[in-house]
Amino acid sequence: MDKHFDFLSKEEDVRLLWKNKGNTSPSDGERVVSDKKKTFTIIMPPPNANDPLHVGHAMFVTVEDILIRFHRMLGEETLWLPGTDHAGIETQFVFEKKLAKEGKSRFDFDRDTLYKMIWDYVRENSDLSVNQMKSLGASADWSRFKFTLDKEIVDGVLDTFISLHKDGLIYKSLRLVNYCTKCGTAYSDLEVEHEERDDSLYFLKYGPVTVATTRPETLFGDVAVAVNPEDPRYREQIGSLVPLPLTDRKIKIIGDKSVDMEYGTGAVKVTPLHDHSDWEMSLRGGIDPTTLDDTFLVINNYGKLTSATGKYQGMNVLQAREEVAKELGDMLVEKKALKHNVGLCYRCKRVLEPLPMKQFFIRTKPLAEKVIEALDKKETVILGAGREKILRHWLENIKDWNISRQIVWGIRIPVWYKDGEEYVVSKTSPGEGWVQETDTFDTWFSSGQWPVLTLKTGKKGDFEAYYPTTVMETAYEILPFWVMRMMMLGIYLTGQTPFKYVYLHGLVRDEKGQKMSKSKGNVINPLELTRKYGTDALRMALVMSTVPGQDSNTGEDKIKGMRNFANKLWNAARYVSEISDEGKSSSDFDRYLKNVVDETTKHLSELRVGMAAEYVYNEFWHWFCDEQIELSKTNQVSKEQMKAGLTTFLKLLHPFVPFVTEAIWSQLYKDSDLLMNSSWPTK
Ligand SMILES: [Zn+2]
Repeated sequence: MDKHFDFLSKEEDVRLLWKNKGNTSPSDGERVVSDKKKTFTIIMPPPNANDPLHVGHAMFVTVEDILIRFHRMLGEETLWLPGTDHAGIETQFVFEKKLAKEGKSRFDFDRDTLYKMIWDYVRENSDLSVNQMKSLGASADWSRFKFTLDKEIVDGVLDTFISLHKDGLIYKSLRLVNYCTKCGTAYSDLEVEHEERDDSLYFLKYGPVTVATTRPETLFGDVAVAVNPEDPRYREQIGSLVPLPLTDRKIKIIGDKSVDMEYGTGAVKVTPLHDHSDWEMSLRGGIDPTTLDDTFLVINNYGKLTSATGKYQGMNVLQAREEVAKELGDMLVEKKALKHNVGLCYRCKRVLEPLPMKQFFIRTKPLAEKVIEALDKKETVILGAGREKILRHWLENIKDWNISRQIVWGIRIPVWYKDGEEYVVSKTSPGEGWVQETDTFDTWFSSGQWPVLTLKTGKKGDFEAYYPTTVMETAYEILPFWVMRMMMLGIYLTGQTPFKYVYLHGLVRDEKGQKMSKSKGNVINPLELTRKYGTDALRMALVMSTVPGQDSNTGEDKIKGMRNFANKLWNAARYVSEISDEGKSSSDFDRYLKNVVDETTKHLSELRVGMAAEYVYNEFWHWFCDEQIELSKTNQVSKEQMKAGLTTFLKLLHPFVPFVTEAIWSQLYKDSDLLMNSSWPTK
């Protein structure tokens, strides 16, 4: 064996070996079904096609690759199906930033041109994430690779929408949506980021009643004043009319139990087209917001005041707030500082504007109920520090899902219009004069069907053989966005939950336990570190001692420490391969080694990846190297035992540190098959 482990050149050699001889494709589904073979399946969470990998990606690649290599060595039909995502809004946002640098914006292009430009941009960069995953050692079945905009996937997504529509689970409705006036799109409730902000509470005189509001500029859209019917200050006034300042309208005082008597003056203005709770209050008060005309619409999609506000038309919201407050004069009784929660755009951090828009919704209740049933029956088990409880809470309180997005980069909703409001749902144009809906689907609508569609559009029989999949491994942060939607749509489409286990990995924090962020300057670049310390070192550092659902800390020192482990492994192998004395057989050795095999197998079978890593690391370092190698120097363990022990450890360690173990294997057993194709030890 070579004297030193030169990881950079050895990793290159190993990648080539795997590329040429690695068995990463399981049998086609048809054969698996007829042979009744045991399967192990992971559908890879598809990273954004055009994004370089960050440390979170390196985490999922490592955890999934460990499980995949282990089960493949166990002899199961093991499928790791890779893919990438077009990532709708995310990608369009990145692309628009690029346009901005060139002094342009999306409004300079028509829809088709813009779509094509983004398509080309994604295509140009689409190998990026795939190559980086390969470089981290991902032993996925690249022959089954899928992209969310592959024609057959898009077809499947459209079919699902059509079928949901047929089943009465889709409706179009004017609703308040969370709209970012900068990004030009609505978001689902789950995507709204909340932040506490310093603001002002204004006390405005509406005739005899004083209302408290943070938004004087929307008063032009008021339909009522609401008070709590149990509030003695106002009880008698319910039903009477008060003048609406700056207008010649009068509005009614309504009673609504949701009004907090302790907040402000206990009286609030009701502006249904610009506030979520006002919409509800208006409905309860007998004024259906969907019947209100444009004179109640105060703010447009660009965040500017409309003609309904007279001279304020064209002003932005903050400017109008100040000007309206000024014009109110004596009618503005007081202005107090206030801390309150606002909803922000998670992309650009602008305050979201609740705006009324016609959008497509999925009725989620019937879908969510099926997911709860599946959880009750343990058809899917969630591993991740109590996160099943959180998932259940989401499912029990779920609202209808707004799946319309006002962006071009995505799958266009298959709905067609001709004169007026009625629409038809169809994959292709119903005929002349019909125009297609311009909105595209929320990107989670297509990725929510990922396990079903990737297998249904794959090799013959794959769906029957590999669905339901075994493990869905992903970050706990996207439990509601993705995992919950995959379960809802997976059960809807197939009657079966899409995976048996959900393994949620935590955030990777820096060595001090702080969240990594660009502004703190503590972000680690996984590929840079693999070039510095080796890919094995990064992989081992990421998973060592991790527990599903809990965050872990990883810094450069930890990775450096794991480089020492790879070197230790190399040196131990070199020592054992050069033992010359036969030595005498140790009676404890075989028994202990068998126990190490059993324990490692048990941890991995039960998805305790972090514990398995820690366990086998310690046994190798402290038992095999510190004790047995020392004993062998005085011939207290036989040469044959040491060699068998080394072979066993190479196998046990292979899923975690695949490069160094394969490199050693290729030097020691030149004529045999690859280590990755070998079978898991039983003793
Ligand atoms: Zn935005």
